[in-house]
Order: sequence, then C-alpha cells, then structure tokens
Amino acid sequence: MTTDTPIDAAAQRLAVVRDAMDRAARLTDRSGDDIRLIAVSKTHDATAIRPLIEAGQRIFGENRVQESQEKWPELRAQWPDVELHLVGQLQSNKAAEAVALFDVIHGLDRPSLLSALAKAMDAVGKRVPCFIQVNIGAEDQKGGCAIADTPALIAAAREADIPVLGLMCVPPADLEPAPFFALLAKMAREEGLPRLSMGMSGDYETAIMLGATDIRVGTALFGSRPAPARPIPGSGRGMIRNSRAT
Ligand SMILES: *Cc1c(COP(=O)(O)O)cnc(C)c1O
Repeated sequence: MTTDTPIDAAAQRLAVVRDAMDRAARLTDRSGDDIRLIAVSKTHDATAIRPLIEAGQRIFGENRVQESQEKWPELRAQWPDVELHLVGQLQSNKAAEAVALFDVIHGLDRPSLLSALAKAMDAVGKRVPCFIQVNIGAEDQKGGCAIADTPALIAAAREADIPVLGLMCVPPADLEPAPFFALLAKMAREEGLPRLSMGMSGDYETAIMLGATDIRVGTALFGSRPAPARPIPGSGRGMIRNSRAT
C-alpha cells in the first residue's frame, strides 16, 4: 500500500463508491450510470483534489463561495470539463459571485435569495440551474425552505426564469434518514421535478434506493475533514456557520 500513488488511492476510493452506487441502483432496478456523483471537496486543497480529477471524477461540490474562488479557477483552467456545484447555503450578497463561479446551485431556499439570484443571472445573461433546498426535518437551525412554503418557492423560481432541476435536502443528523428521503421524493413527484439531490457519505446508498439522482459525497472520497472550530458556548451559531457558504 505504501507504494500507492495519490492517484491510485483516489481511484480506489472512487471505485469503492462507484461499486456501492451500482449495487444500490440495481436493487431498485436503476443503473449507477444514471446517478451523478458530486465529490464534495470543501476544506480539501488542490493537492487533495487533483488526484481525484486524474482518476476520472469530473463533478465537484463546495459549500463556501470564497474558498471556491481561491481553489477552483486554477484547477478548472487545467480541466475545463470539470463541473462545479455549490452545495451549501448561500448568502444573498454572494449571489453574483456564485452565479459567476458555479454550474449548479443546490441551496435555493428563500424568496430573498431567489430575487438576488435572478438579478445576478439577468445581469450576466446566464441561467444557473438550481435545486430548491427543503428543510425536510423542520429543524430550527437548518437552512432550507419549510415544506409548506416549497411549492410557492418553486413557482416563484419558474416565474423568475430560474431553471429548477429538483429538490435537495440534508436530513436530521441523529435520525434514520430514509423517511426524509422518501418525503423529499414524494414532494418532487408532486411538483413534476425530475432530480433529487440527497445522500452523503453515511447514507448515499439509502438515498439512491429512494430515488436520489445526485449524491453529495465528501468523506468517503477524501477522508475526514479537520474538525470545525468549536462554537462559542451559548452563541448558538456553530451549526449554522459550519454549513453556510461564506
Ligand atoms: C459536507 C457536505 C456533504 C458531504 O458530506 P460527507 O458526509 O463528508 O459525505 C454533502 N452535502 C452538504 C450540503 C455538505 O455540506
């Protein structure tokens, strides 16, 4: 194992995930080839990302605009066919930068952000396809549109000529995810939306069996991330800050 190059190691991790994707897809009479694997490279630098690109991976996800601006222009100059997705929450004042940098945005979750994105897209004449993020577990501290407000947000996005690909969610961390994936799939069916961005390293096989078309996998491809800075006790901001694009 010590003679493995970084590309060999990346190719191995990629093969393990691809195999698991294929198995989960076949169990529900689908093909793994129909599911997009988004390699979530947040916190990992170009040295960690490059071997995975060289192993063939082409779709990457980040959760912070500024971190992506620092890492990706150079990598994309070298590999122009790489597709970059924003998978975290987005602040409205970063909408223009996000529209400039990303090919797909997964965190559209409120009318104010919708307006900012529509304005930013109009300004540069570019439509960036979006997933509507749903707060599927109705968690106070989580981003995402409330379930009851989601149909109106989808309608508003269509009205503003923002291409809506489908729905996205991050289920509650401490509960069985399957019911939440099933609920998101039901909501997407009711809205006639074809794609579902759901499933991370710990639950992507379950997500695929429940209809995921786009899975967002970080740890299983890159190894564990450095622990985030501890929230200041009582500030109540730690969990939000950790997932928010800044
Ligand atoms: C970090 C992150 C992921 C990937 O998580 P892993 O557990 O490392 O696979 C997926 N989706 C979102 C929104 C994330 O922030």
